[in-house]
Amino acid sequence: MLDTTVAPSVAAKTTTFDAIVIGGGIAGIYQLYRLRALGLSVRVFETGGGVGGTWYWNRYPGARFDSESYTYGYAFSDDLLRDWNWSEHFAPQPETERYLNHVVDRFDLRRDIQCHSRVASAAWDESVRQWDVVLDDGKSYRCRFLITAVGPLSADTLPRFEGIGDFKGRSFHTYRWPHEAIDFSGKRVAVIGTGATGVQVIQTIAPLVGSLTVFQRTANWCTPLHNKKIAEEEQAKIKAGYPAMFDLLRRTPGCYIHDTDPRGTFEVTPEEREANWERLYAEPGFSIWMANFRDVLTDLKANALFSAFVANKIRQRVKDPVVAERLIPKNHGFGTRRVPQETGYYEVYNLPHVELVATVETPILQVTPNGIACSDQSYDFDIIIYATGFDAVLGSFDRIDIRGVGGVTLKEHWAVGPKTYLGMMSAGFPNLLTIVGPHNASTRCNIPRCIEQNVDWASDLVRYVGAHGITRFEAMPDAEAEWSRHVEELAAGMLYTQVDSWLTGINTNVEGRNVRRVLQYQGGAPQYRERCDAVAAAGYAGMVLG
Ligand code: NAP
Repeated sequence: MLDTTVAPSVAAKTTTFDAIVIGGGIAGIYQLYRLRALGLSVRVFETGGGVGGTWYWNRYPGARFDSESYTYGYAFSDDLLRDWNWSEHFAPQPETERYLNHVVDRFDLRRDIQCHSRVASAAWDESVRQWDVVLDDGKSYRCRFLITAVGPLSADTLPRFEGIGDFKGRSFHTYRWPHEAIDFSGKRVAVIGTGATGVQVIQTIAPLVGSLTVFQRTANWCTPLHNKKIAEEEQAKIKAGYPAMFDLLRRTPGCYIHDTDPRGTFEVTPEEREANWERLYAEPGFSIWMANFRDVLTDLKANALFSAFVANKIRQRVKDPVVAERLIPKNHGFGTRRVPQETGYYEVYNLPHVELVATVETPILQVTPNGIACSDQSYDFDIIIYATGFDAVLGSFDRIDIRGVGGVTLKEHWAVGPKTYLGMMSAGFPNLLTIVGPHNASTRCNIPRCIEQNVDWASDLVRYVGAHGITRFEAMPDAEAEWSRHVEELAAGMLYTQVDSWLTGINTNVEGRNVRRVLQYQGGAPQYRERCDAVAAAGYAGMVLG
């Protein structure tokens, strides 16, 4: 147990923990496990009514992994790996929520996770070297170490349409999906948004509804998921292959089982190229995005050629050529935005009761009591589904009033873009660790793999300071500036930086999110891990410890 002695007047009023973790999702759960193993007193505050974060909230129809299930589960426990059977190659949300609850119970973590508890503010108190954490309900707590595990996609955003509150039917943001089943039969349903979430919802509810109208602003390059059940013998084979698989996941840039093809697009014959792309289109998961020729995401000509290949696939699958053209992105190349993975998505638009409205042609003017009014006509609906995404990466930090040394807020510190050291801390915010924070490899990763690295590194730091009688650590401003520059430089050559999406921090529904920013470390998870390890090996270089 660390020394958490505080002034008696403060101790009398508040409960003190060695560490407070904000968020009870994949990151918060594992962080709790690691800190408890160090003998620390820990409290996890979770806004939701249950554990799981993303997999608690996103219970919309069709929500599922698009990383292979067995690459996504925690790797820290051999017993857990041995005992848990994933039922499908890309598991659906209920199974993942069950899995995370299983982990929480199996490792007796639930007693330290406080649900229905939203952290409203956290302020650094230099006099006692502690964080003062206050919940929405006004209850306050103190801790030596504050660890955010708030997730990159947990600040959901609604469009700023006039009349959005006047709609008389039911409406949901996909992240806030109700726990009870929704009866779609015979209903006139609208879906706004065609990102990875919208695509999953649309393809799942299309056969269930009376009519479906999809409002698409920007078309995305979607490719087949090719999901299937895991048969018994296959299960045994997957488990036997775990050591080799986890070894591979440590070596690939995004910790996926798909590794970049070392060949360039123009280094092979047109026949070889076409055959390779046909093979990738028929393969499950992100193979087509991650295991494509090495230059597809960096070279405009290579990217254009591959985009044309996928455009032809869309044309082959959608019967009405006008609709097909609307579904083909015209303002960005393949893979420069997150690639939605689909199962029969394009075929949905061949159904007679499904309509695609391209809002670049006929913009949405407002939501009315009966539905949606576009520039050319009004539509009546029973249900409106907002698959309109998130204030990504930064939004969940902005929603908490985090104040460091001298009362400076993290929001102010990051006003013109994130400034971090290793994507794990910020100068002026002592004893604060940001798991899956901006500038971190995790936000472009098969996330549990990078989460485990983040959490292990953070836990080692906490152990180190405890063992050396250190009660305060902080990133040096110079180290922060150098890391932030390094992150910007790594992203410079990548095509995605020239495109609007959550990956570049653009969100038209949020004030101030109209400037593209580098939010992710693009050097790849192995290089990121090496940098973090080198900092630790050098006695936490770039930080002031005291
Ligand atoms: P998203 O990719 O940001 O998509 C939001 C959609 O809503 C876009 O089509 C956007 O159009 C549209 N939209 C937003 N505001 C609008 C407005 N005011 N008017 C009209 N259209 C509007 O969000 P998402 O689909 O929720 O996905 C976010 C991320 O979550 C994904 O990229 C992925 O990383 C993750 N995710 C993962 C899984 C999985 O692992 N299985 C599943 C779902 C999501 P524009 O494109 O024009 O802005």
